[in-house]
Amino acid sequence: VTERPDVVVVGGGAAGAVVASRLSADPSVRVLLLEAGPAPDRLGAFPARLLDAGTVQGADPDHPENWAFPAMLTPDRPYSIARGRILGGSTTINGGYFLRARHSDLERWARRGGAAWSPDRMLELYRRSETDLDFGESSIHGGSGPILVKRPPLDDAISAAFVAAANADGWASLADAAAENPPGVGAVPQNVAHGIRQNSALAYLLPVLHRPNLAVRGDIRVLRVLASAGRVTGVEVEREGVVETIASGLVVLCAGAFSSPHLLQVSGIGPADRLREAGVEVLLDAPGVGASFSDHPQIAVSWLPRPGAVDLDLPRIMAARLALRSSDESEQDLELLPMLKPTTALLGHAVSEHDGVDVLVSLLRARSRGSIALSSPDVRVAPDIRYHYLVDEDDRRRLRLGVRLAARLLGSAEFAPLTAGFADGLEPALATDSGLDEWIGRRIGTSVHASGSAPMGPATDTFAVVDPSGCVHGITGLRIADTSILPDAPTGGPSATAVLLGELVSDAIRTGP
Ligand SMILES: Cc1cc2nc3c(=O)[nH]c(=O)nc-3n(C[C@H](O)[C@H](O)[C@H](O)COP(=O)(O)OP(=O)(O)OC[C@H]3O[C@@H](n4cnc5c(N)ncnc54)[C@H](O)[C@@H]3O)c2cc1C
Repeated sequence: VTERPDVVVVGGGAAGAVVASRLSADPSVRVLLLEAGPAPDRLGAFPARLLDAGTVQGADPDHPENWAFPAMLTPDRPYSIARGRILGGSTTINGGYFLRARHSDLERWARRGGAAWSPDRMLELYRRSETDLDFGESSIHGGSGPILVKRPPLDDAISAAFVAAANADGWASLADAAAENPPGVGAVPQNVAHGIRQNSALAYLLPVLHRPNLAVRGDIRVLRVLASAGRVTGVEVEREGVVETIASGLVVLCAGAFSSPHLLQVSGIGPADRLREAGVEVLLDAPGVGASFSDHPQIAVSWLPRPGAVDLDLPRIMAARLALRSSDESEQDLELLPMLKPTTALLGHAVSEHDGVDVLVSLLRARSRGSIALSSPDVRVAPDIRYHYLVDEDDRRRLRLGVRLAARLLGSAEFAPLTAGFADGLEPALATDSGLDEWIGRRIGTSVHASGSAPMGPATDTFAVVDPSGCVHGITGLRIADTSILPDAPTGGPSATAVLLGELVSDAIRTGP
């Protein structure tokens, strides 16, 4: 397989693990998956600290299995962007919240993707990917897919207080966040079972590693996609410091929303001017590569727990989610997620009594758009990533609304037994919009849900990079299957949708011409 693969899958993350698993189900197709990070071959070979769903230690920028891309969220706010660098990709280091896109997302995307992206088909693919341990097989849930999905109990002190406070504030309790609910509060579905974060490699790849036509190789970084006369010929890789070429007529990029567009650019596929500036020979002028990605701006409202309020032994980091609309006309564009432990504990560090616990406020339909551009012909030099957060007044307005709601819930009678107040000067900032904008500006973060950096759309749209089957317009034999190809970020975490994209593109390869 490693000598003459029919397909090279680049990156074994949320979507790549799915693509390699599904394509290798046909014994006549030789599949080679290349992962830049380690490739554990059994459950026990994954670092225990990454399997532990009670922490999110891989999110620490210093963690070896985190790419930690430097980025600017605003001109004044440098930030380290976490991405998983290990089999399972970001699903191996993420928060484990596993929620499908909303119907309005699916309808919006279908306007660009047609029948292949119709809401009915997407629902079918979501169902195929999951085993819902709470609801089982039903018209909306899957009962036999690889990813185990479960909703956590809401009986810990923080979740119980949050739900009670939200109910008292007028928000209804919801049984199933995956259903097309009105705004409200409920348990967030998670790809967590038995205290273990069920990353996509555990779910999809480990059970099929015995296949003779599948080779999964870790610690191999793809440096470039090779193409000639408009057709892919293989990839250039680095293995133990040695650069070599692997020939293949089909390459599927699953390197994630930052690395896939970056790989395209260093391979000569991207905005021609930028490529030339960086000294890269242009194979295809594709202005949409890295031009306009979306993500979810996030702000942590941190509160100080009283002794006994936090249970550090809980096998989860979050449980409840409040989704709401910023106005009667809008989508459910705001989300509040109360964390269950101080950030220090979540990252695996020692906890002191002064450590705050966060309620994460995320703007799920931000207007801001980010850019990714190569800064060198060498992919090993980090790209220039700019988010352009907070330039839009409506984004700022909605973030203020979310922060004020979080502050109201934390200041409620239901929370009084748990909290000793806000952790970082929020109280005075709440008084004026300008004060709150300034407070948010100093603390703005991101959910790391980047999407749309090589978007799907018709060839007539110059900014569309791939077609509905993930084929790169203008290059034969090159596909992308990861959140890069979403037209924009879903109205919620993208992890379940990244897995779905693996299903969608592998299905298109299996059944296509
Ligand atoms: C800290 C953190 C918390 C998150 N929390 C949540 C959450 O709770 N819920 C949610 O829905 N979403 C969450 N996300 C986002 C979600 O995990 C990602 O959107 C999703 O995993 C993206 O899937 P992907 O397949 O596009 O990329 P990834 O899962 O990132 O996979 C990309 C893979 O490609 C590999 N790779 C990259 N470049 C190369 C190369 N040159 N050669 C070989 N391999 C390469 C990477 O090492 C990686 O394994 C979180 C993300 C992070 C980082």
